[in-house]
Amino acid sequence: MAALKILVIEDEEAIQELIRYNLSKEGYTVVVANNGEEGIRLAKQEAPGLILLDLMLPGIDGLEVCKSLKQEIQTAHIPVVMLTAKGEESDIVIGLEMGADDYVTKPFSPRVLLARIKRIIRRPAGNADPQETVQYGEIVLMPGPHRVLVQGKSIELTASEFNLLHIFMNRPGWVFTRSRIVDLLRGDNYPVTERSVDVVIVGLRRKLGNCGDCIKTVRGVGYRLGE
Ligand code: CA
Repeated sequence: MAALKILVIEDEEAIQELIRYNLSKEGYTVVVANNGEEGIRLAKQEAPGLILLDLMLPGIDGLEVCKSLKQEIQTAHIPVVMLTAKGEESDIVIGLEMGADDYVTKPFSPRVLLARIKRIIRRPAGNADPQETVQYGEIVLMPGPHRVLVQGKSIELTASEFNLLHIFMNRPGWVFTRSRIVDLLRGDNYPVTERSVDVVIVGLRRKLGNCGDCIKTVRGVGYRLGE
């Protein structure tokens, strides 16, 4: 397998070096940009397999960079992991809605960063077979017969609960904002609002019983399965 190239858009030298050292050690090729303009230019020039994007950048900020990357046909497909600070939850939500794939909050351990990168590389967005049986811990979901087993026992879910669980199970560990969930659940025959997403989550957790706490609330951002 060829070394995956990762573009790091980050102005702080200490963090650049931390990332460069740890990713190189794992066999990745690392390209660093010191600001947003350079980052956008290098994203086109170097065609990296993944971009780590700091949100607090001099000049054009990380969200603007993300927007620009996701709007350009040359770079729209490249997964983006945002590097954020505590208290930037509203920016995280905006970034995820612009198409960023994930985020890591500073200070982060290299181990966590590497785990996130590997997960994204392993499963690019939207390539799951919709009919494939999926399993997470003791939960098994079978899309064909529309059945869910928890610890070997069948449970009854509403259409929205089933679809939401399927979304989570296809992307374990992934954060979904409420508005993203609304978009993904649309297509059911009734309107979904951000408020009703919370209601669906409550029902789903209850019906999953012992396994219900695997659906985590990510404060100020949304929900995710696991971690
Ligand atoms: Ca910064």
